Amino acid sequence: AAPSVKPSMPRRPLGQTGLRVSVLGFGASPLGGVFQAIDEKEGVAAVKEAFDLGINFFDTSPFYGDTKSETVLGRGLAQLPRDQIVVATKVGRYGADTFDFSASRVAASVRESLTRLQLSYVDLIQCHDIEFTQLDQIVNETLPALQQLKTEGLVRHIGITGLPLKIFQSVLDRVPAGAVDTALSYCHYTLNDRSLQALLPYLQEKQVGIINASVLSMGLLTHQGPPGWHPAPQPLQQAAAAAAAAATAHGVSLPKLAIMECVKDPAISSHLVGFSTRQQVRDNVDAVLQGLGLLPSPLQQEEAAALAEVQRILRPVQGLTWLSGLPEN
Ligand code: NAD
Repeated sequence: AAPSVKPSMPRRPLGQTGLRVSVLGFGASPLGGVFQAIDEKEGVAAVKEAFDLGINFFDTSPFYGDTKSETVLGRGLAQLPRDQIVVATKVGRYGADTFDFSASRVAASVRESLTRLQLSYVDLIQCHDIEFTQLDQIVNETLPALQQLKTEGLVRHIGITGLPLKIFQSVLDRVPAGAVDTALSYCHYTLNDRSLQALLPYLQEKQVGIINASVLSMGLLTHQGPPGWHPAPQPLQQAAAAAAAAATAHGVSLPKLAIMECVKDPAISSHLVGFSTRQQVRDNVDAVLQGLGLLPSPLQQEEAAALAEVQRILRPVQGLTWLSGLPEN
């Protein structure tokens, strides 16, 4: 038989930026050792493997691993052609409780990130977890400061990120068209929480590119379980562990089910999953291709049965989330 050719990872437009990003994006927080200690050499190889398998979108932040994620990602990206990758980082968050969205800090921060990433510009700069500051500051100070960096050529596009979904409307209703190019939401378009779904029409009307991060609910939807710092309430943690056990009983990977189930809607430009090994890259690329029906899954029947059971287990905790940021946001 002729050797089968693997389909390529599809790309989708990122809002009005003119960029096309892979449906699966490389979330680089694990490269900072955020989830567990990492093998840096393997992490650098994972970046190359991702690119070779069609992933062109890479997301990091100076917050991840206290700048380590940017440094390791930068080593990985140095192997890749600059004009074929879309690199995103962030400003404003520097520790669990350390935030600074001032104009002077974000201008310095971008320059520091570029040094660590070994780049002369980033394609996307995002205000990181804006619910932790007064949104007035984001609108009146941070976004204009980032516009200035755009004119200097250090950043190409500007985005906002955070957990509570209402922050997006609070900012987008107050800024001129074109001031914000992307919105990154996390933990709200997964097997256990689809609350981002209802906001998609609004974000599309605002013409921002939509990025869905933490497809595995920051490690909840894995067999090894979440890191000790995970903020999910106990009932959610317990249900996720039960879902993982049910998937195991069917001989199926819960991360794979979680990825397959969220990649179909073209309204979402890219889904970020955190990787740090080549094996995870390969597994997650296959999960996306199978989820989109581009590649047959050898375990289709077992997966359908496991999915039904996992969904039943997660139903009582659907949409259960946690507080993040200032109460007024
Ligand atoms: P995630 O839900 O992607 O889970 C990451 C965890 O899953 C890691 O422990 C990783 O080792 C594990 N994993 C990944 N693939 C696996 C596989 N096939 N099998 C088993 N385990 C697997 O969580 P995340 O990393 O927090 O989110 C993805 C990315 O989204 C981040 O790296 C970051 O770039 C971005 N993000 C941004 C924000 C923000 O801006 N506020 C918040 C969260 C995430």
